[in-house]
Amino acid sequence: MMSSTPQIRGLLIDLDGTVYEGSALVPGVAAAIEWLRDSGMPFLFTTNTSRKSRVDVVSDLTRMGLPVSAEEILTAPVAAAAWLRSRGTGSVQLLVSESTYADFEGIAVTDRDPEAVLVGDLGSGFTFELLNSAFRSLRAGAELIAIHRNRFWLPETGPTLDAGPFVAALEYASGRPATLIGKPAPAFFEMAAGLLDQKVDRLAVIGDDLESDIRGGRDAGLTTIQVRTGKFDESMTRSSPAGRAPHVVVESVARLPELNFDAIRAAD
Ligand SMILES: [Mg+2]
Repeated sequence: MMSSTPQIRGLLIDLDGTVYEGSALVPGVAAAIEWLRDSGMPFLFTTNTSRKSRVDVVSDLTRMGLPVSAEEILTAPVAAAAWLRSRGTGSVQLLVSESTYADFEGIAVTDRDPEAVLVGDLGSGFTFELLNSAFRSLRAGAELIAIHRNRFWLPETGPTLDAGPFVAALEYASGRPATLIGKPAPAFFEMAAGLLDQKVDRLAVIGDDLESDIRGGRDAGLTTIQVRTGKFDESMTRSSPAGRAPHVVVESVARLPELNFDAIRAAD
């Protein structure tokens, strides 16, 4: 049978809920990544987290038993910083964890008349005073940028508000929509494709999040693989309309070596 489906030439692998859950690797991940390295398939780990810098992500994964290098990881703050630099934005007010400030080298971090306000993960740091300060920056003309707009996340302590509700609050107050930088924004997938030197339609994304990984990946033109770990919700995936569901669902990243990447999309 003839097929015009492009062959998969790279993988984008989500981290939280896909490679690890809580503070432990998903069983079988280390062997699957070793297989991937041996196979020669290019890949990038991708994450929307702005709770830690790329360097912190490297040390956390290595400590869990998955040695990686910084070049193998694209975090949303790293993508945001690259985006700001590409636009010549010289100053930014950061509503993200201070540990990610290192990813914004070359851009002035300030609360006074910033050119942009960037909202990411701050947890209990989202005080009224800080949100009001960001609101005033927006009123004075700063651009609103969101690393992501995830509604919630699942730490070991239970379902927890993510950055999305705070982005929505600032959009509501300022009357202006945020520009989204992390997953599921197509720009994030395009930046990842650029780093792998591939076209987006030759990449597959593997992740647990139906919105960020699967729908974002599909919208950007990628082949999508959902794992039954992390945030995976059987009923949400089953009730997804055609074109919004993953191309394939697997138990976990440990199944990577069994996948025929080029066949996944044949039924699309
Ligand atoms: Mg995830």
